[in-house]
Amino acid sequence: MRYGIFGDVHSNLQALRAVVEALEAERLDGLLCLGDLVGYGADPGPCLEIVRELDPYLVGGNHDWGVAGRLSLTYFNPVARTAIEWTREALPAEAVAWLGSLDVTGMAGEHIVLAHSTVHDPHLFEYLVTPYDAYLSFRHLTTDLAFVGHSHVPATFFDGNPVTPVYETEVDLAGRRAIANVGSVGQPRDGNPNAAFGVYDEETGRLTLHRVAYDVERAAARIRKAGLPEILADRLHLGR
Ligand code: ZN
Repeated sequence: MRYGIFGDVHSNLQALRAVVEALEAERLDGLLCLGDLVGYGADPGPCLEIVRELDPYLVGGNHDWGVAGRLSLTYFNPVARTAIEWTREALPAEAVAWLGSLDVTGMAGEHIVLAHSTVHDPHLFEYLVTPYDAYLSFRHLTTDLAFVGHSHVPATFFDGNPVTPVYETEVDLAGRRAIANVGSVGQPRDGNPNAAFGVYDEETGRLTLHRVAYDVERAAARIRKAGLPEILADRLHLGR
């Protein structure tokens, strides 16, 4: 199986369209989505329609649960909270309920674990960014491979003593235990404003991390027009 992997869309329609177009150019057997479809951006409705149409293996994120009222807004900083409240008003009740129905962990087939935040405490929505975070998740991982989202920073961690992070765009996962984050579609935070996604080939074990340019100006303009916090528009240009 060859999987396309994406997540942290965050209602960024321009970025999502660019990623979907790039995914369509790949020969794929399935799609994996790591959650946070909404929050921050100005087009939650169209983004949900696209993702639901794609019908990927899917887990929900903290923003999805926040909008649905399944996670307390005290979890979020004021800017994120404002965006969540705005999103809840912008979406039909059916879409809000659907977001609340998503689990935050799941499986794609028998070998690939999906979790929005961490494998070890998926309901706490902590970030998996250090080797120690990955170590905790490896202890709970029942297979050899997991994909996570949430941090918006692409990285692959290999199990071992010590757990080793790599930040390459071509990674060989064959015969190793790994936890990978392919980055964020709609709000990259690694200093690169281009939308991120990944392709994983189960036969070869190769994971490839991709970036695709999109109309950042338009996505930022949509955020300003919606009256969402200005910083959510500004940070798209910086990829921070
Ligand atoms: Zn996110």
